[in-house]
Amino acid sequence: MAKVKFYTGESFPLEMHKVRIIQKLNLIPVEERGKAITEAGNNTFLLQNRDVFMDMLTDSGVNAMSDRQVAAMMYADDSYAGSETFTRLEKSMKNFFGCKYFLPAHQGRACEHILSQIFVKKGYVVPTNYHFTTAKALITVNGGVVEELIIKEGLKIKSDLPFKGNIDIEQLNEVIKKYGPDKVAYVRMEAGTNLVGGQPFSLENYTETSKVCRANNIPLVLDASLLADNLYFNKKREAACKDMTLHEIVLKFAELSDIIYFSARKLGFGRGGGICTNSHEHFLKMRELIPLYEGFLTYGGMSVREMEAIAVGLDETLDEDMISQGPIFIDYMVKELDKLGIPVITPPGGLGCHVDAMSFLDHVPQNQYPAGALGSAYYIASGIRGMERGTLSEQRDEDGKEYYSNMELLRLALPRRVFTLSQVNYAIDRLVWLYENRRLVEGLRFYEEPKILRFFYGRLEPVSDWQSKLIAKFRQDFGESL
Ligand SMILES: *Cc1c(COP(=O)(O)O)cnc(C)c1O
Repeated sequence: MAKVKFYTGESFPLEMHKVRIIQKLNLIPVEERGKAITEAGNNTFLLQNRDVFMDMLTDSGVNAMSDRQVAAMMYADDSYAGSETFTRLEKSMKNFFGCKYFLPAHQGRACEHILSQIFVKKGYVVPTNYHFTTAKALITVNGGVVEELIIKEGLKIKSDLPFKGNIDIEQLNEVIKKYGPDKVAYVRMEAGTNLVGGQPFSLENYTETSKVCRANNIPLVLDASLLADNLYFNKKREAACKDMTLHEIVLKFAELSDIIYFSARKLGFGRGGGICTNSHEHFLKMRELIPLYEGFLTYGGMSVREMEAIAVGLDETLDEDMISQGPIFIDYMVKELDKLGIPVITPPGGLGCHVDAMSFLDHVPQNQYPAGALGSAYYIASGIRGMERGTLSEQRDEDGKEYYSNMELLRLALPRRVFTLSQVNYAIDRLVWLYENRRLVEGLRFYEEPKILRFFYGRLEPVSDWQSKLIAKFRQDFGESL
């Protein structure tokens, strides 16, 4: 047979949708990019979107909606209490997770806030496969501690293990023994482990985790924000899931969980969040906090339009064609970069492509935030904004000492169904240029450092004039072009 490349996701990705609405992008010249990143305090969160060419900061609330989602937004029922929209969302939620109770919240961290208020007390522990920034901050603010028990291989940059997001069951048993089951607030499992490269866990590992939790009478909490990617990988990489439908896999995860929460800025391709459970007792406790912090029980801080979009988005999450675009584009980007010798996390996960800044910039010490520096340099080189996921995204301990992250990553998120293949090729190309010129890049230091979640709005400056050198080199190599 002739060498045909036409098949989904294996030699090059094929989108199972067409684009019907577009937004114009700006690519400003490199000198202006230099000015923009200085004004933003070298923090990509503080860039203005008009100065950004491809926004690869996050996949949160920026995924492309389907025509059916946008249409559903038009028939939202505006009312404070008892809206038809809520009834529809509740129904689709209960159907999706097969659960009895659903509580709405304005986004993922709002669910985390409610969970930690109810379950976490001083001296309590939350074992987890890996933490997420807001989840950890909300647990520690209530006096709890987080124990990260991801399998060893999960923290290795290069691997071909299909489920690097698995929790180490032996360590989980040890931590429960060490603190005593009464001091374990809950076990938190994060689907599509965000901070270590969007890596999934297997259904098998989740089943084991659930057994341990049930034997010790500890609630198992599933953070399902990135469940769509995790599901895709269960189906593709786990023999036991091969013949299951996506919905059967979801229902299995749900059956093994006591509480499920999620950010609908990711799951459901909308903007909002929610908590599901089958336990009447948990439901009653958590329900008390919804009107207090979120809004009335039939909207929880979400707009009715978004709620309609989420209901449809959830439904579409069970269609492999609708959720495959993210993973297959990421697969392409990671494999291309890997072939070119650029250090990226493998195997390809969900969420985005994660560049290993510790190796990319092995001459920049961790206290000068290599991943932050790489983010600045990459924006200068390309107009693309990524997000630092490393030491900068941690916070200092009580004595003001840096907490060095296990990994120093520049995350290039791929908002689902947003970018074309040529844009992804551009992103690859500029990263290759930067890699060739990586010795020009040096570190950053804070000049404004907030105590909590400093990565969101802290400001930094380069430790030398390396950025002007990088801009000069760009001009030399690219001539007149942007
Ligand atoms: C984004 C995210 C959250 C927080 O959700 P928000 O809607 O941004 O508050 C929690 N957990 C995971 C895994 C996430 O990716």
